[in-house]
Amino acid sequence: MPIPAIDSDYLLNFLTGLLNTPSPTGYAQPAIAFTQQALDAFPELELSLTRKGSLVAAWPGERSEAPRALTAHADTLGAMVKEIKPNGRLKLTRIGSFAWNTVEGEGCTVFTREGRAVRGSLLLVKASSHVHSKEVAELVRSDENMEVRLDARTTWEDETRDLGIEVGDFVAFDPRVEVTDGFVRSRHLDDKACVACLLASVKALHDAGLKPAQTTYLLISNYEEVGHGAAVGLPSDVTELLTVDMAAVGEGQASDEFHATLCVKDSNGPYHHGFSQRLRGLAEQHGIPYKVDIYPYYGSDGEAFWRAGGDAAVALIGPGVDASHNYERTHMDALVATTQWVAAYLLS
Ligand SMILES: [Zn+2]
Repeated sequence: MPIPAIDSDYLLNFLTGLLNTPSPTGYAQPAIAFTQQALDAFPELELSLTRKGSLVAAWPGERSEAPRALTAHADTLGAMVKEIKPNGRLKLTRIGSFAWNTVEGEGCTVFTREGRAVRGSLLLVKASSHVHSKEVAELVRSDENMEVRLDARTTWEDETRDLGIEVGDFVAFDPRVEVTDGFVRSRHLDDKACVACLLASVKALHDAGLKPAQTTYLLISNYEEVGHGAAVGLPSDVTELLTVDMAAVGEGQASDEFHATLCVKDSNGPYHHGFSQRLRGLAEQHGIPYKVDIYPYYGSDGEAFWRAGGDAAVALIGPGVDASHNYERTHMDALVATTQWVAAYLLS
């Protein structure tokens, strides 16, 4: 069966909206709700939330004897207020693994307990060249040396508390989404790009009046960046789990921003060989531009599922993302290829 047409405008519109919805791990419910609202347009899906807060869509297939699942995560890197400093600025603790220099100078939002969003930016404690000279370049980017400067009149602790800010408030860094000539540049393409690919594949089948070959569950997880997103949420009878997450692009890597990648091994070891081989076969059969790669410092929700005792074949595909866990970039070619691959799998 040929792959139905992919609506790339739909994909990009949904992706842009999702990228602009803050969702650091632990505070990902706005992105889960945004995705749920988009999936509401497809009445063939039955939506539910797990107690942990992830979104599950059950999609009846042509057959149901070997149910399948796909997962992508809506949570992202972010931070939490660790301390309110005597000078009124905020010391943060990181959520997920990233280096402080990747968000240095970035705008951010602090979400208070009362639901207020206070704007600010993340800076080095010795930020001004005119005051600190060489130290601006030389100071180590550590938890101690980074702080949030709030866009509010506060010069001491109590004034910051008066804004409603407290230890434990979530902090989201601005995604700075920009689309140029097919390139999508933004933070948190990991893994919102793949949530968008899953939705675009649902729309492609829906518009063509098609069902998946087998009953299929989509799990939009909300704790991936801390390692246990897809550990729960899927029925125990799923036979396969296709994890859809970004491919690592860079020196020595086979992946690029114009292909979808099949990851055969990452930090946690190899994926399921038979399932991976079948996915390669599908890509070749449908002329989907793809690469095969190994990611040196990477773990996925597929492995979280395995470690939690999940008994299914697990494989990983996704679009190439340059400068991951930094100011990321991909291209529509990789997003469309990933969506086609997902659609080909759903129909196979
Ligand atoms: Zn990811």
